[in-house]
Amino acid sequence: MSRVLIENGRIIDGAGIAPVDGSVLIDADKIIATGRQADAEAVGMRDLTRVDATGMTVMPGLIDVHCHLAFDDAESNSELFFQRRNALSALVAAYNAKKLLRAGVTGILDPDSTFENMIDLRDAIDAGVADGPRMSCGAYALITSIGGTAGRMIRDSGITGYYMAVNGRDEIIGEVRRQIKNGADWIKVHVTGIVPRQAHKGEMCAWSDDELRLIVETAHDLETPVMGHCRGADATRRAALAGFDLLFHATGMDEAALEAVIERKIPIAPTLTFQANMADFGPKIGANPDLMKLFESELADSAETMRKAYDAGVPLLTGSEAGFSMVPYGDWHYRELEVFVRHFGLTPLQAIQCATQQSAFGLKMLGETGVVAPGYKADLIIVDGDPAKDVTVLGKPGAIRHVMVGGALKDLSPLPPRKPIPGWRVASIGRQLTRDIAFGLNATGGPIDVEELH
Ligand SMILES: [Zn+2]
Repeated sequence: MSRVLIENGRIIDGAGIAPVDGSVLIDADKIIATGRQADAEAVGMRDLTRVDATGMTVMPGLIDVHCHLAFDDAESNSELFFQRRNALSALVAAYNAKKLLRAGVTGILDPDSTFENMIDLRDAIDAGVADGPRMSCGAYALITSIGGTAGRMIRDSGITGYYMAVNGRDEIIGEVRRQIKNGADWIKVHVTGIVPRQAHKGEMCAWSDDELRLIVETAHDLETPVMGHCRGADATRRAALAGFDLLFHATGMDEAALEAVIERKIPIAPTLTFQANMADFGPKIGANPDLMKLFESELADSAETMRKAYDAGVPLLTGSEAGFSMVPYGDWHYRELEVFVRHFGLTPLQAIQCATQQSAFGLKMLGETGVVAPGYKADLIIVDGDPAKDVTVLGKPGAIRHVMVGGALKDLSPLPPRKPIPGWRVASIGRQLTRDIAFGLNATGGPIDVEELH
């Protein structure tokens, strides 16, 4: 690998320090110098590629710790549970991974996948067989027979889509060990699920405390961390006390839950991009107004507790939940930074630090990537604009000018357009054609089923 000097840029280091002008020198897969030191060391260097970043920002690439590459912008769980094929979904995920690179994403944590095949994509990217951001991944999301958020569509035991139902101690231990053997970097647990008959209560903790501890103990014995999807105070507190290493959502925390999280400084990926998109743009996709209000209030309610957690030193990581149609690949990976700024009151530099230095935790590369400083992996982006003033420039079409992963500049040329894949999507007849809609009365969109939401 050759050496690269990125010159004349404005450097945001990702560690929260005010931007400085200067150069970045890369040798093989690492940053070896920044600022004047970089220019000095580059003098007389052979095989040096120069990249001009005049008027642009050089910063660590975005890390998205909640991205389901195999889901392919699914519109429903039934699509994921019943329509997909293993090899084809991995091939499609490899195409989607390239969209992430073009959006400035240099690393992702993929929590769970159909056929647990993102283990294979990760290995393919690591081996240079496929191109994409750095990946770490889980396998199947562990659930009990209570299921996750798709109610009775989920089988009582075994695999449904990206879920694996485990019942009892032996199955829990066996499955955690099997996933680790097969290459999972993380164990993913759906700590909460919706009980259809009690849906009005929201998501409920689907595990006993003993079971949660058993998962953590079994995984930790094999040096593997555990991440949990938790909604609600009870589940978040119990997952924190059981020793979970990373929490997704963690919405609706009360004082006890917040205290448990703060005491252990457990990183949280609130993953509110989905809610923010629904709240801001719901009408454009015909969303149910009641559901929009629900998402708006989840956003508002979470803001205060997330801010308290952040102020108390809990790392907040950025996740998009890309993989579902509300958050298509490539379009919204910057959006969680905007949520952190707009709703939690973080400064743009603080939000960037969350998405880079802090989110490296999701890659299990804390201290190795996510910062522009000597010794770190050269996982960088060059952006036309100043994200330190406005993080939304990161989402502007054409703003990401260069992307480098492990010192290699990535091809950002437009992807060839895709055609439909036979049998891939669930065919829909369309919304209910009531007389009101047919004749122009109350012509609002049809309702979206809450059970369908991840
Ligand atoms: Zn998810």
